[in-house]
Amino acid sequence: MTSAKQMFALQELDIILDRIQGDQAKAEYELNNGHAVGTLESELQRDTEWIQESELQQKASKLEAASQKERSVSLNSQLYGGEITNPRDLESLEREAANVLKLVEQHETDLSEINEKIEEAQTRKVKLEAKLGDARTTWEARQAELEAAIKELGAKRAGFEGQRSKLTEGLDPTSLKHYEILRKSKGGVAVCKVERGLCQGCRMSLPTHQQQRVRNGQQTVLCSSCGRMLIGLS
Ligand SMILES: [Zn+2]
Repeated sequence: MTSAKQMFALQELDIILDRIQGDQAKAEYELNNGHAVGTLESELQRDTEWIQESELQQKASKLEAASQKERSVSLNSQLYGGEITNPRDLESLEREAANVLKLVEQHETDLSEINEKIEEAQTRKVKLEAKLGDARTTWEARQAELEAAIKELGAKRAGFEGQRSKLTEGLDPTSLKHYEILRKSKGGVAVCKVERGLCQGCRMSLPTHQQQRVRNGQQTVLCSSCGRMLIGLS
């Protein structure tokens, strides 16, 4: 017959094992997800793409401005060259020259806006690159820390699992199964102490005869309220 004390010892091991497993899972999660490098990388990528697009726009704008400027020069030379004397032709030429001049000015304004934005983006990019560099360094250190912790937790876990299998070798399978089921269904606590006549699992008071049986420790006594295995203070 398996004693409640053995079950209690088993539970203590299982609680430690649960904690180790939880820590391992947390470290593994952080190792796979928890770092700022990825976010910064995509931010930098977006910035770089924006700059590339804007530089294309800048080039096109420059070409357009240059061709309008050329047109303006040629219109002016026609206007003042003296070859055209018809007043109506001169008037329409003048209008065209004025329109083209307006276009040239507009292109120049657009161009200077684009230039300014590109400069700002480039400054931002330089800062982001520095930040990314720092984040990579920090992350490398953290990664090494996490990997070491995972390794250490793995070794610890193996040690406790060894202890656990030694302990369960001496337990009868039916009690062990009962323990496993209780631990799953009772929030991880299958065995609990009785203190001042109260089950420490559910805080309900136990009848005197039940307390007596727990103290004897001859057989497994279950709490009449929560169904957990009971162990007396010793
Ligand atoms: Zn209880």
